[in-house]
Amino acid sequence: MLFSDVFKKFKNEQGNFNETLIGDVEGMLSLYEATHMRIHGEDILDEALSFTSLHLKMMATQLSPSLATKINHSLKRPLFKNLPRLVARHYISNYEQDPSHDATLWWKDLDFETKLPFARNRIVEAYFWILGVYFEPQYSIGRRILTKVISLASVIDDIYDNYGTIEELQLFTQAIERWDISCMDFLPEYMKVCYKAVWDVYEEMEQEMVKEDRAFCVIYAKNEMIRLVQAYFTEAQWFSGNYIPTVEEYMALGVVNSGYYLVTTTSFIGMGCIATEEIFQWLTNNPKIVNATSIIARLMDDIVSNEVSTTIN
Ligand SMILES: [Mg+2]
Repeated sequence: MLFSDVFKKFKNEQGNFNETLIGDVEGMLSLYEATHMRIHGEDILDEALSFTSLHLKMMATQLSPSLATKINHSLKRPLFKNLPRLVARHYISNYEQDPSHDATLWWKDLDFETKLPFARNRIVEAYFWILGVYFEPQYSIGRRILTKVISLASVIDDIYDNYGTIEELQLFTQAIERWDISCMDFLPEYMKVCYKAVWDVYEEMEQEMVKEDRAFCVIYAKNEMIRLVQAYFTEAQWFSGNYIPTVEEYMALGVVNSGYYLVTTTSFIGMGCIATEEIFQWLTNNPKIVNATSIIARLMDDIVSNEVSTTIN
């Protein structure tokens, strides 16, 4: 069917444009955009372009600022005649002003910026990292979970490296090892915020896995978070006691605190039935491929950290 045939549906028997269309701003805008794909001789689409342009101009003065901006932008440069990258950039800024936008802003709700100002905000970086793990649409839950886990691991890393006293870190380590929400009562205020966020993310993970009838895998993910926090604590103890580890000691810990076991195990959580319990058991046996990846990650991270600190000094 030709596009012009589809368009005829927008007209009534008297040849006037459908009233419903006039009241439907988004529909009108879509039609306006579509008319730019007309070919020579599709007169009805020429007519549609004039009609939609006129009505959109009139409508724009009576709409919310975000919708008006969107319409004016399209009137100035329709999608078909624009550069996709510029359109995407413009859309991001405009979308957040749209009252109907998806407000799943988990990270902002946590308000770590105020409550844990010393911690790095790596949410965008973490998401791009996880896009490298899996980008396919069916792994959307996996990406969400993994991004949250990595971002929280980064905040915990900052607590252990830069902020917590050794006594506070011991409390936090014990609380993670016990994985009991009542442990929160014994933590300093700033740690409570982080502990609760960790708790919530793993609760969400559990709920998702129950739906998939794969609740068995959550314990493996929790255990990796516990192992990571324990490694952070050992490192903090070394630092606080002015202890210089041997290369062997450092690398043994580095395999864990690189975070790659955490990432690998948690990435399988979001992979559905492909990731059977055997996969998770295999990971607990420290397979060579994950060990080697962890060593590479640890050393590459150390090289970059060293270059940054050398530059700063
Ligand atoms: Mg660290």
